[in-house]
Parts: sequence; C-alpha cells; structure tokens
Amino acid sequence: MQKGNIKVQTENIFPIIKKFLYSDHEIFLRELVSNAVDATQKLKTLSSVGEYQGELGDLRIEISLDAKAKTLTISDKGLGMNSEEVEKYINQIAFSSAEEWVAKYKNQEGKGNIIGHFGLGFYSSFMVSKKVEIFTKSYRDGSEAVRWECDGTPEYIIEPHTKTQRGTDIVLHLADDSDEFLEESRILGLLKKYCKFLPVEIVFGTQKNYQKEKDEKGEEKDVTIEVPRVINNPKPAWTQKPSDLKQEDYLSFYRELYPTTFDEPLFNIHLNVDYPFNLTGILYFPKVKQNFEIQRNKIQLYCNQVFVTDSVEGIVPDFLTLLHGVLDSPDIPLNVSRSYLQSDGNVKKISSHITKKVADKLEDLFKNSREDFEAKWDDIKIFIEYGMISDEKFKERAKKFCLLKNVDNKFFTLEEYGLHIKTNQTDRNKKVVYLYASHADEQHSFIDIAKERGYDVLLLNTPIDSHFVNLLESEIPDSSFVRVDADVIDKLISKEEEMPSKLSQEEKDELTKSIESQVNGESYTIVINNMSETDPPMIITQPEFLRRMKDMSQLGGMGYMGQLPDNYMLVVNANHSLIGKISAEKDAEARNKLIRQVVDLALLSRNMLKGEKLTEFIKRSVDLI
Ligand code: ADP
Ligand code: MG
Repeated sequence: MQKGNIKVQTENIFPIIKKFLYSDHEIFLRELVSNAVDATQKLKTLSSVGEYQGELGDLRIEISLDAKAKTLTISDKGLGMNSEEVEKYINQIAFSSAEEWVAKYKNQEGKGNIIGHFGLGFYSSFMVSKKVEIFTKSYRDGSEAVRWECDGTPEYIIEPHTKTQRGTDIVLHLADDSDEFLEESRILGLLKKYCKFLPVEIVFGTQKNYQKEKDEKGEEKDVTIEVPRVINNPKPAWTQKPSDLKQEDYLSFYRELYPTTFDEPLFNIHLNVDYPFNLTGILYFPKVKQNFEIQRNKIQLYCNQVFVTDSVEGIVPDFLTLLHGVLDSPDIPLNVSRSYLQSDGNVKKISSHITKKVADKLEDLFKNSREDFEAKWDDIKIFIEYGMISDEKFKERAKKFCLLKNVDNKFFTLEEYGLHIKTNQTDRNKKVVYLYASHADEQHSFIDIAKERGYDVLLLNTPIDSHFVNLLESEIPDSSFVRVDADVIDKLISKEEEMPSKLSQEEKDELTKSIESQVNGESYTIVINNMSETDPPMIITQPEFLRRMKDMSQLGGMGYMGQLPDNYMLVVNANHSLIGKISAEKDAEARNKLIRQVVDLALLSRNMLKGEKLTEFIKRSVDLI
C-alpha cells in the first residue's frame, strides 16, 4: 500500500466542493456516468483502430445501490486505468482542474447564474461522499488492477487489487447528509433526467417481471425473473441521419421526450451542422395555445447526449422557446453565466442558425403546400407573430409567408391582402385602411355594416394581435389598422366630404341634452354625426388608439400603466329617420322612452346590455309591441 498527498496549489478544496452549489449536488451522478461513458467509447475506438484486440463483450454501464453498506457504485467495462494513470488523471489532472474550477466559481455560489457546471468532473463525487474508492483495471495486457481511496482530504491511498475484469468501479461511501442518494427512486429519477440518451446502455438495479412456467407436475405457476433495468435510449433520433428516419420515428421520439403531452406536434426540423460549430437536434412545432407561457421552456439542451438543462433562454431567441425538442452541442459554453452566454460568439451563431432553419422550414411549407400551411395556421400563428414582433431577422423572412385571415376564413399573404383591399379601402388621405375584428360574433353588427359597404374584415383574435397590429402598421407603408367598432364605418374609411345634416345645430344641442339625461351615469361620450340614412340610429364605438393601449397594457410588456378604463362613444346618426322623430317629439316622457330604447338597442348589438337594464329593456319592448 502506498499513501500519498494530492498536491494542493491553493487551499484544501474539499470543504468548498462539499458546500458548493448545494442544490446541485445531484450532478455528481451525471459526471460519474459521463466518465464511464467516455471510458467505454474510448475503448470502442481503440478496438476499431486495432489497438485493442481483446473481446469487447458486454459494455453496459451498471449503477447499483447497497443500502446496508451505504454505497452507490458506478461500474463500467471501459478502458480502465493502471496505477500510473490513476496517479496522473485522478490525482493530478482531474484534481487540478477541479481546483481551478473551484477557484473560478467559488465566489459565484448562490448567484444561481451558472448552468451546466461542467468541469468539476470526478471530484464532484465529494459533494455527496465521505469516502470514494476507485477499483480499476486497464485494458492493456498484463496490467495490474488498482484500488484508490480518498476520504475528502488531500491524502489518498493507492494499492494493487485483485479485480480481474477490465474497467472501472467507482464506489461512493455516501455522506450522512446525502442519504437521499440511497433511495432507489431518487437515483432512478436522476438517471432518467441526465442519462436518458447517453450513447452507452446504462442499467440500474433490477426490475421484477412475472412469467408463467410449468413445474414438474405440468402445473402452471408464476415465477419472477429479474431483468436489469435499462435506463436509456443510446441512439436517440437526433443522432441519426434524417434520411434514415420516417415521420413515425419523429413522432415516437416526441412521445419519448414528452410522455405526458397528448397533442401531436405539427411538424419538425432536424438540425445537423458541423461547421463552423457543432449542432444537432430536432425541433418540434407544437400547437401554440393562447396561454402559451405554460408551453415554454420545453427544449432540452444536451452536450454530447448528456442532459444539461431544459431552460434554453439566453441560448435561443425568446420566441423559439415556444418550440419543443432537443438541441445538442458541445460548442455552447455551459459553465458560464447567462448574460455571458448571450454575448458568446458561438451562441449567437447557433441562435441565428436556428432562426434561419425555422424560417426556412416555414417558408418551405408555405411554398410547397399552402393548403396544409393554411390548415395549420391557427396553431402556428402566435408563434410566427411573436417571432416577427421580437426578432428583426425572422420578421424579414416571415413577411413572405405570414398570413392574414379574414372573417370568412380566407387566407392572404400581406402582399395579396394589400392588393385585395387597395381599390376599395383607400381613404381620401390615400391611406389604405385595414379593418379587423377581434371577435366575429361580438362585433357582428359592425362587420355586417362594413361588408355592406363591400369592405373586407380581418380576424385578429389573439392577445398578441394588438402588438402585431402595431407592427403591421409600421411595416406596411400608408396603412392604418382599425377595429370595426372603433368608429362609424364612414369615419373609419372616410371617402368624401361630410354629408349634409337633416338636423339644425339647435336641434342637435337639444338632442344631446336629452340623451345625456337618459344615459346619466353610464360614461359614454355622446357625438352626433351626419351619417347615411341607412346606417343604424345609434352605435357604440370604442376609439382605436385608446383600446389598443388598453389591450397592450393588459398583455404587459409596455411598462406598468395600471388598469386603463374602457372608452366608449355613443354615436348618434342625425340623418336616421328615428332620430328625426325623437328630435321632433314634444312629449318629454315619450321622447325619453324612445331614446332609452334606441340606446339599449345599440348596447344590445354589442352584447353590452346586461342585468337590470336588460330586464327593463325587455319589459319596455313588450309594452311597445
Ligand atoms: P474529464 O472527464 O473532463 O476529463 P474528470 O474529472 O471527470 O474530467 O475525469 C478525469 C479523468 O479521469 C478522465 O479524463 C479520465 O482520464 C479519468 N477517468 C475518470 N473516470 C474514469 C473511468 N470511469 N474510466 C477511466 N478513466 C476515468
Ligand atoms: Mg468527466
């Protein structure tokens, strides 16, 4: 037996490792299993180039728990180490890189801005162990097995051992405060989280299966057979060639990633780049729901098939976090803060590559199967609009395939729609007026009036649309967007000088007073307009600008503005015969009754007549009939 001292450069790092990143102690398992995978892959490489000529045999990595001895063991049948190699790789290289790592990050403890934590490596085992043993035997002919032991001080023991099988067993004697790692379910959970797609088969404990067998007398009985439980899929879809995969394979991989998600993805992109950076992965387009926040952050980030994180913010543009799937890249620096990530050159390149691929895919679909694209539009619309609002480059690409849908479910590109409405909906100031509705039923009466004029009405019905309308207005020269209920139609698209009025100014003033007395307490601004005889006698409108501000303040993202009030206008058509009749009515009671009835009709057409007012209206209507 030989005792030694690990050369300590700065200070004893073990106590620091131990208290490090307390909540992230679990990553020791990822580090140790990755090392076992590396050792196995290296042996395979040696074998394939003829440097190792022995049998490879069963190369599975085994994880086992011994609750009595309080140990957790990670065993591989990889290339192993001889005593010089243990000395070099464990005592010197691994130690000094752990030391370097600790020196670099110890001051960031608790700031929560380190992701990945790659780099601590083998010594992360001391986060959870009071003692660690290595039993290892090199693949080289005639090499002697070695036992190494260290109890978390710079002192270590190294001695020959009787191990006969090639490979390495790492035995962790778990510390008293790390009992949780003796629980099978905890380890299983960690293996499923970090090791689900590692490239070498990993087995953990055993699983009991039942099988019927006949005994000597020919009677059937149940026997249990213990099967090693394989944790991972060593060849996940993203590591395979796109040409080897069928649509079903992508779908079944999606289910493997999200076993609890029922919706099927709409389509997917297989990423595969090896220059100027390495990136593989599969991104899926989910059906984006109105309350999309819950769908976010489902992309899993891997580094050579080792799970790192499922929060990719900072790595891909915000709107892409709506996508699902897997990204795998060894070129994303993972042990740095997120703010650093955003400015990293590789990360920038990767993120603009992904944006480009996503735009390519959408453009492709649009060009090659527009019908299909239109059928999926409602499910991808939020994604595309969000992308256009938040990402300049994506916006430029998406302008070509972004669709507008009208209230009759017809689809147009931005360009097509511009041409469609240009002749009819250009006002006297040469602005092309885009009319839209946010709710086809609630705004039905307004849509109807617009259609009577031969105008087209778009359906923009998602919360993000109030922002999107702003974007469109600034993108399309000489355009203005107005919701159909923002004003009376001939003001929304005003074409001629104002119409003559059938009422004199005095009559109008009188009328305004009477109406005010009837809608006292309901905060409408009353306006008397000279409209067409065929337009309704009264309309409730909601001015575009104030309403848009309110919608946007509700969505957030424009600074806190508090709850903005609704602003309604009660527009009275001076030229309607009924208004003429009201104005001429001398009997005050009859006049007021008529006014109230017409106001209520206007409210009713907007679904704004509720409660007591509705009851009164019904009674009054019955009386009138
Ligand atoms: P890294 O994996 O980044 O090299 P680690 O601290 O995880 O750093 O491991 C240090 C070194 O110890 C490895 O590079 C390898 O040479 C050796 N090593 C660790 N685990 C094993 C193992 N299971 N089999 C063979 N060698 C190993
Ligand atoms: Mg390692």
